[in-house]
Amino acid sequence: MDTVPPSDRPGTCPTWCTLTHGRHRGEDDTVHVSGSLVVRHTVLRLCMTVDPGTGAQEGPFVLVGAEELTLHEAEALIDALTQLVDRGAEVSPPAGA
Ligand SMILES: [Zn+2]
Repeated sequence: MDTVPPSDRPGTCPTWCTLTHGRHRGEDDTVHVSGSLVVRHTVLRLCMTVDPGTGAQEGPFVLVGAEELTLHEAEALIDALTQLVDRGAEVSPPAGA
């Protein structure tokens, strides 16, 4: 796996960002995107923008396919899924149990 040379990373680049910065000046260095996880056919990743001039930060957001969730919304989704999975598991014991 390629690692981005530290000199090419803007100071605002989070550790989870996998983009190669410094190739294109301007807009490209304001967006930071993580590696992707795939659940079924949906791509999940983190995304954040930082304006190098003003330092204004948007995100990080969790991208679920085309949906953009705040971290708080993603946590709510996790909680809801966990509740449903726990309830479902009550009636069907996990495999191998
Ligand atoms: Zn970055």
